[in-house]
Amino acid sequence: MKSRIPDTYWKAIIENDSAYDNTFFYAVRTTGIFCRPSCKSRPPNKENVRIFKNAKLAQLEHFRPCKRCKPNGLRLPDEEWIEQLAEWIDENYSEPLTLDSLAEVCHGSPYHLQRTFKRIKGISPMKYIQQIRLAKAAHYLKITDESVTNIGSAVGYPNTAYFVTLFKEVMAKTPRDYRKIHRIGKVEEENLDDTNE
Ligand SMILES: [Zn+2]
Repeated sequence: MKSRIPDTYWKAIIENDSAYDNTFFYAVRTTGIFCRPSCKSRPPNKENVRIFKNAKLAQLEHFRPCKRCKPNGLRLPDEEWIEQLAEWIDENYSEPLTLDSLAEVCHGSPYHLQRTFKRIKGISPMKYIQQIRLAKAAHYLKITDESVTNIGSAVGYPNTAYFVTLFKEVMAKTPRDYRKIHRIGKVEEENLDDTNE
């Protein structure tokens, strides 16, 4: 479902034009956040943008106010902000992520994000991503016969040597040894891709 955005609005968004503040707000489907036109966040993909005439309407559709531009003076509590980002990470952990790209996604500064995430979650965002990736990798090692390389790539570590080293460092075993111990039965389980025998 694509929304049609008036050209003047789209122009205001990409130029961060404060003249349009309070004329409309824009929300981004992929991040669940809404902003003032003047927000300095990176321009979103046009097809993911929805326009709202006021902040209330955006909130009714479950979009959250941006941490950076605070549309209508609305402030998102830190807890919600971080939980929302954590949910996003849970779905996008296999993407190439950095602190900077996360900060873009959740509309905050990298510094503030790092501090706040750590305060609320107890670990840094990058550590959190690592935890999820390794847990997923361990899961795939248990239930599939996919190669270590494929599993590494699938969870966000396309560099196999790095993946193996990191896995061993954290799990105290190489992926291969981990699989030897934990591989579950011979049952036909889900595979990462369709291999023909
Ligand atoms: Zn914003």
